[in-house]
Amino acid sequence: MNLQGKTALVTGSTSGIGLGIAERLAEAGARLILNGFGDVDAAKDSVARHGQTPGYHAADLSDPAQIDELMRYAEQDFGGVDILVNNAGIQYVSPVEDFPAAKWDAVIAINLSAVFHTSRLALPGMRERGWGRIVNVASVHGLVASKEKAAYVAAKHGVIGLTKVIALETACTRITCNAICPGWVLTPLVQQQIDKRAAVSGDLQQARDELLAEKQPSLEFVTPGQLGELTLFLCSDAAEQVRGAAWNMDGGWLAQ
Ligand code: NAD
Repeated sequence: MNLQGKTALVTGSTSGIGLGIAERLAEAGARLILNGFGDVDAAKDSVARHGQTPGYHAADLSDPAQIDELMRYAEQDFGGVDILVNNAGIQYVSPVEDFPAAKWDAVIAINLSAVFHTSRLALPGMRERGWGRIVNVASVHGLVASKEKAAYVAAKHGVIGLTKVIALETACTRITCNAICPGWVLTPLVQQQIDKRAAVSGDLQQARDELLAEKQPSLEFVTPGQLGELTLFLCSDAAEQVRGAAWNMDGGWLAQ
């Protein structure tokens, strides 16, 4: 897989799944643009060890004006985005009747609306250059629900719907748009949920084991590196007729 000459923007690539995907794309030769918060220098170093020194833009994706700036930076400094991985995401857990409206808005803005805005702005350049890949990091929660995750489940179902629309609108081009649907991956997002359970039981290992046993038959976490390999495949020429698909990588979650 050779992505030399391609520029890849991975949103939310300073940790977890996004960082794993960015590392794999860098290994394949792509120039990376990172985005997100936290330990940015560590993320940049890590991607640089896998390929070229990446670019970075700290846009807050809940703000469409900052998304405009991110895409302008990609255009001006990198000549546009060939591979767009919409990965950034947050989660809020609460029953619907207690769900704060502001939390609903925040989850929908980052997990769904940002995917629309980045795609809308990346597509014209992809059409002009005659090639493009959009990979949206959805979730098993884009295909099935869990209690207390109303905004997350609604946003991820929306991402899969949006993925299909973009795939149809680009069907007669060399631009593809697909979603990937991870099960549990041990990232800070999931560690928060384990910590919450452990706060009740007092046993971190037990909380981890229970989380897996409830949903993921493999009893193992999916890794960011494995999701990076799947993304790399979807960026390849071999995957050019994979369009509008939602690919599970979930340790058997959805096979039950
Ligand atoms: P994470 O918390 O490790 O990383 C989230 C990334 O998004 C970070 O880089 C963070 O800085 C960035 N981010 C958060 N809010 C942002 C904002 N407003 N603007 C810009 N960047 C922002 O989470 P993760 O587990 O790696 O999740 C990545 C994606 O994978 C999310 O879309 C998540 O829903 C999805 N996912 C995760 C799992 C899992 O088990 N971890 C399972 C299925 C899907």
